[in-house]
Amino acid sequence: SYKNGILELTFKQLGPEKPKGRMVEVKEAAQQHVGRGVAVLHPGVIRRYGWAAGQILELVYNKKTHVKLWPGSSKEHGTDGISIDGVTRYNIGAGIGDKISVRAVEAVDAEQIVLSPTENITVDGLQEYMLRNYANHVFTTGDSITAGTRLGGRAQFFVTGTKPAKPAIVTERTIFKLGSMTKAVNPYVPRITYDELGGLKNEVQKIRETVELPMRHPELFEQIGIEAPKGVLLYGPPGTGKTLIAKALAGETSAHFTSLSGPEIMGRHYGESEERIREIFRQAEEHAPSIIFIDEIDSIAPRREEVTGEVEKRVVSQLLALMDGIKDRGKVVVIAATNRPDSIDPALRRPGRFDREIEIGIPDEGGRLEILNIHTRGMPLGDGVDLRQIARITHGFVGADLAALSREAAMRSLRRALPEIDLDQDKISGSALQKIKVGHDDFGSALRE
Ligand code: ADP
Repeated sequence: SYKNGILELTFKQLGPEKPKGRMVEVKEAAQQHVGRGVAVLHPGVIRRYGWAAGQILELVYNKKTHVKLWPGSSKEHGTDGISIDGVTRYNIGAGIGDKISVRAVEAVDAEQIVLSPTENITVDGLQEYMLRNYANHVFTTGDSITAGTRLGGRAQFFVTGTKPAKPAIVTERTIFKLGSMTKAVNPYVPRITYDELGGLKNEVQKIRETVELPMRHPELFEQIGIEAPKGVLLYGPPGTGKTLIAKALAGETSAHFTSLSGPEIMGRHYGESEERIREIFRQAEEHAPSIIFIDEIDSIAPRREEVTGEVEKRVVSQLLALMDGIKDRGKVVVIAATNRPDSIDPALRRPGRFDREIEIGIPDEGGRLEILNIHTRGMPLGDGVDLRQIARITHGFVGADLAALSREAAMRSLRRALPEIDLDQDKISGSALQKIKVGHDDFGSALRE
């Protein structure tokens, strides 16, 4: 299809040439390799380049990072390319399909690694947390680390120093030090990647073709004479990942992300709703590339046959006027979500408006397993935990349900092991979690609740 044509063209022609290493195309990491700090290459390629498994690779695109080389072949991605996860892509500022420079380098054992949080957060047991989750990782100054907090929150750190000042491998003797707070690079770019999305492979593929590609490479679309979209409608039941997919898209493309919700906009005083929408578009254009996410769009733009008040009419015409006025096509994209696609004003779905639609459905068993894997990543799971079985018996559960289930199972194990702990404090707690394991029964009893 033409879409695949475009993809292939991108892969072959684009990406800045960096002189030092071999230019290799970035592929998505398979789920089992996410968060491990590795780059997966086909054994044949490793041999051809004269590298060896376990060797440290330097990856360069807009920034530099280091990972461990891991042999593996991927049925889906073929035999060439380098598979790296979202965090590694973030650390070099590259997206899937970009060509990056790769070369083998020497690394040393880390004596010390300094981690600076981007928020003022209490950290307890940093040493244990890091040793448990990052054994054998190689760190470079500038790398980003996202740590899960006890209550399912996330905290970001940057590596602000390593001793020796070289790519440094974590060993049992590595000392982790908490550095002073550092600024997040851009708080309007979500730190979410496609790795956080389970069971949405085809949907992500579609969003990459329709939005990510024109956003990254507008020249290609112009050349071929295809217009980049201004609006995409995501539809499906609540909790299936519509918001998450919009955020991941922004995270992967380093796009400015703003969101508004239909009910929130409608709850404002006379004139304020339109003013707010204008302000959001103004900011989005100023900070392009940008994603504007509108949740529950049906509440601002219901079908005309349904009761439509004056406010709705004004808000819809304001929204349409702003979308018609988008100059930087492909650089500002409005993504709207609804669980009732048939209940929105058809005027919104005309060409030049929300003229692409992607269904985000309820996950099947395989999808549920992927989602469970994502939400238990970084949890100390006991040996008896059988996520396949949980996936099998959670028919009808959406992503939000499975996230809540995983969180509840973790809380149960925490309460069981540490009745004295204060669960109201959202902390990163390496030392507390070190003592416990989340068991299969914790999932079982959370399910029965
Ligand atoms: P929607 O916008 O469709 O109502 P969200 O994207 O807000 O749903 O999902 C809410 C939460 O549920 C997410 O933050 C995430 O934790 C979890 N979740 C939902 N869908 C998925 C998915 N496909 N994969 C992983 N987690 C998911």
